[in-house]
Amino acid sequence: MDQPDLTPLQTVRAKIAQAAKIAHRKPEAVELIAISKTHPAERIVPLIEEGQRVFGENKVQEAQAKWPALRERYEGLQLHLVGQLQSNKAEDAVQLFDCIHSLDRPSLVSALGKAMAKFGRQVPCFVQVNIGEEEQKGGCAIADVPALLASAREAQIPVVGLMCVPPLGIEAAPFFALLAKIAAENGLDRLSMGMSDDFETAVMLGATHVRVGSALFGARG
Ligand SMILES: *Cc1c(COP(=O)(O)O)cnc(C)c1O
Repeated sequence: MDQPDLTPLQTVRAKIAQAAKIAHRKPEAVELIAISKTHPAERIVPLIEEGQRVFGENKVQEAQAKWPALRERYEGLQLHLVGQLQSNKAEDAVQLFDCIHSLDRPSLVSALGKAMAKFGRQVPCFVQVNIGEEEQKGGCAIADVPALLASAREAQIPVVGLMCVPPLGIEAAPFFALLAKIAAENGLDRLSMGMSDDFETAVMLGATHVRVGSALFGARG
């Protein structure tokens, strides 16, 4: 149902609105994060000019190289970190990002807590949950979520919700529903879930933040 006269950004926004409507949700309740990893500034600028303000990167160094110049040029940009974060990059991340989606282990709670205190900058965080209980995958084990939330609170990290990347090659809906359930059980109301292939499903199941890359920028090289 893609309409050829719409830009990719318009298409994605229309699909979010349609999915929200089906679920009796307001489209404004869903934040679209444009994931610009691997794409150079020249590819990002057209999206900014089209009105997109919220972007995501998965590597601290790449974001440091690309975003300070864009921020000088454009007002109101918001940058989210959606990739695994090493503890030794916590200070850089706290200075650079407006939101971190990959808080997933006690050592990172401690590093981020210290970094936020040092710079006096409380960066909202999502706790990433290993929702498919996959061996290789980042994210906190489901059983460890309450303890990680408690230690984050103790470290004065503002945890705003849960994030997941479901297993590849299998229907994502049950994993999105499970993340929503765990969030509700823990008194959290924001859900970072849904990527290019499944963001509409995620919106129907309560996503407040969808992370969309290739549907906006094309395939990554
Ligand atoms: C790359 C990435 C995305 C976007 O993926 P697309 O399939 O290109 O939309 C979303 N979330 C995370 C954590 C990513 O690393």
